[in-house]
Amino acid sequence: MSLVYDRVALIGLGLIASSMFWAMKRRSLAGEVRGYARSSQTRDTARRIGVCDQVCDNLQDAVKDADLIVLCIPVGAMGNVAKEIAPVMKRGATLSDVGSVKRAVIDEVAPHVPDGVHFVPAHPLAGTEHSGPESGFESLYDNRWCLLIPQDGPDPDAVARLRALWEGMGANVDLMDADHHDLVLAVTSHAPHLIAYTMVGVADDLRRVTDTEVINYSAAGFRDFTRIAASNPTMWRDVFLSNKEATLEILGRFTEELFALQRAIRLGDGDHLHDYFTRTRAIRRGIIDAGQDTNLPNFGRGNEIDKKDQ
Ligand code: NAP
Repeated sequence: MSLVYDRVALIGLGLIASSMFWAMKRRSLAGEVRGYARSSQTRDTARRIGVCDQVCDNLQDAVKDADLIVLCIPVGAMGNVAKEIAPVMKRGATLSDVGSVKRAVIDEVAPHVPDGVHFVPAHPLAGTEHSGPESGFESLYDNRWCLLIPQDGPDPDAVARLRALWEGMGANVDLMDADHHDLVLAVTSHAPHLIAYTMVGVADDLRRVTDTEVINYSAAGFRDFTRIAASNPTMWRDVFLSNKEATLEILGRFTEELFALQRAIRLGDGDHLHDYFTRTRAIRRGIIDAGQDTNLPNFGRGNEIDKKDQ
């Protein structure tokens, strides 16, 4: 791959930004990458481990000469930061973000985008439960999807360039409308996270099962919930507060299905349960066939940590 942008500014230096930095360096997609984080602690860590060619102590210094600025901060903070950087963004630059919710980000950020700056929101569908500059790695976006949400009358070159960057970082790119994005993500990510948070919270509340039992005998199902429920609390608070409608709609559907399964269990309706589980198994098959997860048993984990799974 070759150079896509001369100068890139990453605002926020956590998992997503640091992974972008390593992925851009891997294929020399950017000439210079400047970074900024609000806390000196995060900036010091980024400098120590070499995340970004230059870490700036000041937001405007990171942004002023950049051809691409990417907001890699919690969704709820994006509007204020866009307002702060608006006066220093250069004409012809592209402003993007990586937020997990799109409609709220567009509503908050778009009013601050100056004339001559192209706003192309994005969302890489890749992540882990870890946070901070040390959690990033160059292959995070390999073979994962990145959705671009071009705004009214976007400059086709600006969209094509951002697409080239994400493809260069290993992602498959698709374009999507903001409201549809939020509904799709409510199904595939936001509602599942809330369910995981609830399940882990319930186990914590169940005093008939001691804490030690929950921890020692956590079988694969519960353990997978705990991984998701360990995700960044600030990020997920903002996701639910800013994707309220779609998440509530999906949770309503979830509750209806849960009641139907509850009823089938109470009535001993094995056929209903079997049919339902056959359908869900096919969805898992589809995810594997699309190359979005491994077919290895137990997600390919070694046996050592599974000794207590019986
Ligand atoms: P992260 O590792 O926790 O990093 C967040 C960064 O944002 C940190 O540098 C933090 O600065 C900064 N920040 C936090 N609150 C801020 C505020 N109020 N104002 C300005 N900066 C603030 O988070 P991440 O996982 O990279 O997530 C960043 C964005 O990517 C979020 O919008 C999230 O929705 C989206 N996203 C995340 C995932 C995922 O799985 N993690 C996947 C796709 C998209 P300090 O360290 O100085 O506090």
